[in-house]
Amino acid sequence: MVVESDMSNRSVGLGGLPDRDGHVTLDACIQDHDCRAGSVAFLEHFEHPVSIARAVMERTPHVMLVGEGAAQWALANGFSERTVRIPEVTERWKEWLRTSEYRPGVNNENAPAGKGDATDHDTIGMLAMDAQGRMAGSCTTSGLAFKIHGRVGDSPIIGAGLFVDGDVGAACATGTGELVMRTAGSHSVVELMRQGMEPLEACREAVDRVLRKHPGLTGQQVGFLALRRDGAFGAHSIYNGFNYAITTADRHELQDAAFVRTWQ
Ligand code: ASP
Repeated sequence: MVVESDMSNRSVGLGGLPDRDGHVTLDACIQDHDCRAGSVAFLEHFEHPVSIARAVMERTPHVMLVGEGAAQWALANGFSERTVRIPEVTERWKEWLRTSEYRPGVNNENAPAGKGDATDHDTIGMLAMDAQGRMAGSCTTSGLAFKIHGRVGDSPIIGAGLFVDGDVGAACATGTGELVMRTAGSHSVVELMRQGMEPLEACREAVDRVLRKHPGLTGQQVGFLALRRDGAFGAHSIYNGFNYAITTADRHELQDAAFVRTWQ
């Protein structure tokens, strides 16, 4: 929620970069220890899509609401719309419109100078465990910048951008959502841990599946983060530059994920 409210963040919340038609459309989901889940996608004008996803989980018999229907339901259930205008975002969209060239790229903010491109992405994915060992996870994003209007990524898709099964562990993903959805990424990571893999190995195998299924893939990032029910965790990405924050009672630090490739 803090990041969703941060209007200087260009890949999460209402401060995110728009789709190719100039709409900022938000995707988010949440899942708990017992596989209960809620999700919203293609949602405009709400500051906290993750809170609406939680409300969908807690107050409806459904898992996923999208677009206009999600907005109507949110309004009827105590959420208010918010409109933000950010001149820098409008400028970047207009600049992009000059060429209208869509190229998903690796996470810009971590790219060495000159290596980033105009398609920022960097979802917030969170995996949590409470003092009783109960787990939960969530994802929130404005998705890929300059995407086709109506495009939904992996982040609100249970099993792709996030999967939690308290019997085993939890995983979440960032990067080009299409690559993650095609391989049911986060679900794969949890199932690999169920079969005995360490969190890091499971993330590595999910990354390798993405690479095996997309021969010749280059310049696109995917990163997985996993937390096992015993508290062990790990992360792996295609390219360097994917890092994650760990917070426990006595630790609060950023760590770099393992990676397959470095920038050329
Ligand atoms: N996975 C997100 C999407 O495809 C983007 C991201 O991770 O930044 O919508």
